[in-house]
Amino acid sequence: MKTIFEHSKVGNLAVTIRPLTVNEYKLDANLLRDNLPLPEVSEVDIARHYTALSKRAFGVDDGFYPLGSCTMKYNPKLHEEIATLSGFCNIHPLQSSDTTQGSMAVLSTLSTSLCEITGMDGVTLQPCAGAHGEYTGLMLIGAYHSARGDFHRTKIIVPDSAHGTNPASASMAGFEIIAVKSNEEKGVDLDELRKLVGDDTAALMLTNPTTLGLFEKNIEEISKIVHEAGGLLYYDGANLNAVMGIVRPGDMGFDVVHLNLHKTFATPHGAGGPGSGPVGCKKELIKFLPNPHIEKNDGKYEFVNSEESIGKVTKFYGNFGVCVKALAYILTLGGNGLKEASENAVLNANYMNANLQDIFDTETNRFCMHEFVLSLQKLKDETGVSAMDVAKSMIDKHMHPPTMYFPMIVHEALMFEPTETENKETLDEAIQVMRDLFDDAHTKPEYLHSAPNNAVIKRPDEVRAARNPIVKM
Ligand SMILES: *Cc1c(COP(=O)(O)O)cnc(C)c1O
Repeated sequence: MKTIFEHSKVGNLAVTIRPLTVNEYKLDANLLRDNLPLPEVSEVDIARHYTALSKRAFGVDDGFYPLGSCTMKYNPKLHEEIATLSGFCNIHPLQSSDTTQGSMAVLSTLSTSLCEITGMDGVTLQPCAGAHGEYTGLMLIGAYHSARGDFHRTKIIVPDSAHGTNPASASMAGFEIIAVKSNEEKGVDLDELRKLVGDDTAALMLTNPTTLGLFEKNIEEISKIVHEAGGLLYYDGANLNAVMGIVRPGDMGFDVVHLNLHKTFATPHGAGGPGSGPVGCKKELIKFLPNPHIEKNDGKYEFVNSEESIGKVTKFYGNFGVCVKALAYILTLGGNGLKEASENAVLNANYMNANLQDIFDTETNRFCMHEFVLSLQKLKDETGVSAMDVAKSMIDKHMHPPTMYFPMIVHEALMFEPTETENKETLDEAIQVMRDLFDDAHTKPEYLHSAPNNAVIKRPDEVRAARNPIVKM
């Protein structure tokens, strides 16, 4: 396919510029460019080029998208409409707060709702991604220990079933990472943990459900061990759609939590944004939250700064449009609706898992939460067909591949997250696709080795495509 630059032909134009009706202003020569290499194309060229590009992409509006850990669920269009109301999208963050009371009410109501959902006392909406929230939360934890003169708490304990961003964020925030192994049941090994905590423990970060889609059974004990050693507890709540409305991190003993509005709270994501990773904390940590935060005094919303704040973590107040969509989602569903969303997420994952367990191995025989991980090691040993081959074959069946080779503690892993927005018919079709591919692996493995067979792009060198992308001429 040609790039838009290759469509360019000198003189083609997609706009009609009206005759000038004001005085012409001559810019200084040093402000002018000699040449501006933009493609010269007509309107029809542009329309066809971008429509063709959009047809090559696969999104949640196209079909089943079980990308584990990413929560690619359907996003109701109503929320898009609300976020694009002109009162929300035609304002500027530097406007006087007298003129932005409605938008400040949105931020304030969302913060209160997220406190209620997580069992926390304060929230910042500034972080623009889950990992950004982790970084912010760890800065809060660092500030908390420093303010108490406790300067030797430099270590963050991270279980081996944690999301990959956890150790990465802790390292970026300047901490040392201590890994704690999983036990037989794939939860945190408590005896190991007891050996690792000490007066250098800043916090333990727990991804719950874990990357195996399992609820950590020993949270109360973990919480006790870490708190007794003087450390804090961080909850990676990116996948709160497994538990929201059912249990709250605050009630489980966690001090800090981040959420992914762009996963759990139904805002579209992918292609790098926009996201939102709010961080909630217990009251002892509120004064360290990023500046500014919103207070309501005499019926009026105001931005207020705290002296002990860790400072700003992004421009202005975060990704406001994402916040509007999340609040619209919360208010549309209400408390019971949020709980039902989690129940359906868990039900859908268990339904799919149960219907695949006779042919693929799962790591545990427990019920899963919102996602599950299959191991295709046995299939590979028997047929030579790998998890990669099966994932690529799903593209031919008009399904987005699941997350592959993650978590790394499972061999030939495929991680499925069907999400709560899929109906039984779609799940049944997906189960059938997986069963068909299992049969194909035994009868025509070459076909799976060469998959995708119907897609425009086959198997790019993924590392090279990520490291040296060619996105323009
Ligand atoms: C997605 C995810 C993250 C990271 O979120 P980003 O918005 O991609 O930075 C962190 N933890 C878990 C468990 C996740 O699923």
